[in-house]
Amino acid sequence: MNENQRLPAVDRVLQQLSDLIDRHGRQLVTGCIRAELAAAREGLKHGLPLPDETTLHSAIRRRADAAGRANLRPVFNLTGTVLHTNLGRALLAEEAIDLMVEAARAPCALEYDLATGGRGDRDDLVSGLLAELIAGGDPNIAATIVNNNAAAVLLTLNALAQGKEAVVSRGELVEIGGAFRVPDVMRRAQVKLVEIGTTNRTHDKDYAEAIGPKTALLMKVHTSNYAVVGFTKVVDEKAIADIAHAAGLPFVIDLGSGTLTDFAALGLPAEPTPQQALAAGADIVTFSGDKLLGGPQAGLIVGRKDLIAKIKKNPLKRALRVGKTTLAALEATLRLYRDPDRLCERLPTLRLLTRPVAAIQALGERLQAPVQAALGPLATVSIETCSSQIGSGALPVERLPSAALVIRPTAKKPGKTLLTVEQAFRALPQGIIGYIRDDAYHLDLRCLEDKDEARFVAQLAHLKF
Ligand SMILES: *Cc1c(COP(=O)(O)O)cnc(C)c1O
Repeated sequence: MNENQRLPAVDRVLQQLSDLIDRHGRQLVTGCIRAELAAAREGLKHGLPLPDETTLHSAIRRRADAAGRANLRPVFNLTGTVLHTNLGRALLAEEAIDLMVEAARAPCALEYDLATGGRGDRDDLVSGLLAELIAGGDPNIAATIVNNNAAAVLLTLNALAQGKEAVVSRGELVEIGGAFRVPDVMRRAQVKLVEIGTTNRTHDKDYAEAIGPKTALLMKVHTSNYAVVGFTKVVDEKAIADIAHAAGLPFVIDLGSGTLTDFAALGLPAEPTPQQALAAGADIVTFSGDKLLGGPQAGLIVGRKDLIAKIKKNPLKRALRVGKTTLAALEATLRLYRDPDRLCERLPTLRLLTRPVAAIQALGERLQAPVQAALGPLATVSIETCSSQIGSGALPVERLPSAALVIRPTAKKPGKTLLTVEQAFRALPQGIIGYIRDDAYHLDLRCLEDKDEARFVAQLAHLKF
């Protein structure tokens, strides 16, 4: 007798798993049944017994549930890096999420002038707001929005300096996360990079002497992810602006992060703002939407209206423009900056960065026992001080005091247990992402807000070592 005949027919299993079809659809479930039946047949060839009905059904359920789960899944970011690029950078404010959902759900006046019924410009949704927040409503300041800050730099350079030269200090030839390097972006923008000064020191005269008939602009790049210390000299923005303007050239600053709020006033390390950059004489500033600004991934180009008009006319702008959900999130985020009193409470990025250590510590004390219970004798759990970093290249040398649950394996050689523990936390339905340091697994609790505490504890029941 052919052993295969003892395996049920696909249709029969489909009938038995109708709840699974309701959840995932007939096509996906059929595929999973076929795959499990094939695996069983393969096992048979290797002398394994056929699975009984219960075993077969639960294997099909596991496979269907895994395939039905979204690839883009929420996780807990306990890495100690608040703006973690690989975990999606800034979390959006509820106001931004609401406007984004509305824009996604119903037609919206994206490029439509509701007053005249004529065609509108999507940049107008935020251009005035940005001029208000950054330049006190100066009517000569405008903005245009692209996919990210890398796009903002590429577009600005190509629009203002294609076939010509841009002057940058050697101390500012930044590489951000491997894929964004100032010299490479220049080349792609078809702009000739003129490097001046040395790695550690650049002087006023270096800028002045670099200007020639082919110079299109002077540029400053914020050294966001490293610091040059010791015997150093940088030329301040005002001085570069004066040199540029004396030669009739624009001065462009790539700010990187570009927060709109005074970090020092919040007790955080100071970070240059676009307000300061424009006040110092920059003609164009570019910065990210999802770094310290706390909004969606976007690149903001703000500055002189005539230059912005030129940038918007460049065909690359069309290739790099953002969609309605991004603009919705950006507009709602910017509106929050109009009310500085409630900003830290409403904007998750600032809320997390300004979270008091005492609150983080108190959360640690509540979580220590449940995490210890979940680990059993495998490891001990303690609460220790640690330091969070801002991330995404912002303020690379600054650290924020925080508290972590520190999981130390009880085994003499902890290496293998550490990897097991890390993997088990990562594999949870909502993965928990920490970091290993000094033979211990750390969960920095800065980014676990009290409102998410119950969800975190619920995950612990699913831990499997
Ligand atoms: C982060 C950063 C960029 C790239 O910004 P994205 O929004 O990630 O594209 C460019 N320049 C500087 C100085 C940065 O810090």
